[in-house]
Amino acid sequence: MLALRPLVYPLLILLGLAPLPAALAGGNPQGATGKPGTVRLFINRVGGGKAMDVSNTLAVPVEVTLRLTRLVNVSGAGNGVIRKTVPANSRVRVATLNKRQPGGPIMFRHSFSYAPIFSPEPGQHGSVDGPAYALPWKGGPFRISQGAGGDFSHNSVRGRYAVDIAMPVGTPIIAARAGTVVAVRNGQAGRRPDPAGNYVRLRHEDGAESAYLHLTRGSVQVRVGQTVKAGAPLGLSGNTGRSTGPHLHFVVQRRMGETLASIPFRFAQPVESLPNFAQQAR
Ligand SMILES: [Zn+2]
Repeated sequence: MLALRPLVYPLLILLGLAPLPAALAGGNPQGATGKPGTVRLFINRVGGGKAMDVSNTLAVPVEVTLRLTRLVNVSGAGNGVIRKTVPANSRVRVATLNKRQPGGPIMFRHSFSYAPIFSPEPGQHGSVDGPAYALPWKGGPFRISQGAGGDFSHNSVRGRYAVDIAMPVGTPIIAARAGTVVAVRNGQAGRRPDPAGNYVRLRHEDGAESAYLHLTRGSVQVRVGQTVKAGAPLGLSGNTGRSTGPHLHFVVQRRMGETLASIPFRFAQPVESLPNFAQQAR
């Protein structure tokens, strides 16, 4: 039997407690390395093999997925998909690959992704306070997947606490909190020009902003300046912009001078908890 995967719980975040995400990542008690607010894979030679370590300098734990393909002369890779939880501010060895035959070279391809783990309760390690965000879609349950957008695609100031939720194109996207629409894009057909694709951005009463990316062209139902309640329809999910599969990229941000900084947040309920309304309707 497979080990139980960690439940994905409402992410707790330090809204209001720490002004900058970088500050959340301060301290490095468990050997994490790398810039604050990043999740990085390190591959090092160990003996004749390779050690694969993931360093997490985010303020929250992450579940990492390592996919290994085209394995030649490799032992230790299991079925090629390795999942591990890496606590906040720590570095964990996720795989050790050894040679099957000592003489030959070891070869493989790898891809790496991660998703924040939503901490269950305030006050626990990696958890955060602050207003809860409703799940910004109807239907599901869906899975958080950092997405196939590439290694480290959320390793930026703007997106380090973003989540990707895989869902079919056309899933209704709704406001996660009450707010005012401050930006929309609705006319982009494909990947360009904006990597975000079509999107809606809301500003909330505490100054935080939530953004809903990769929406279907022509589906956006709100206008800049409009106020919306939590749960108000915004548009339909899609696959526009820099997206390699249908998903919603959801991020909460704060303006820090010229830039937008991704901040930790928490959902009001576990992401995978909603019933599948579409199936019920059949
Ligand atoms: Zn994303």
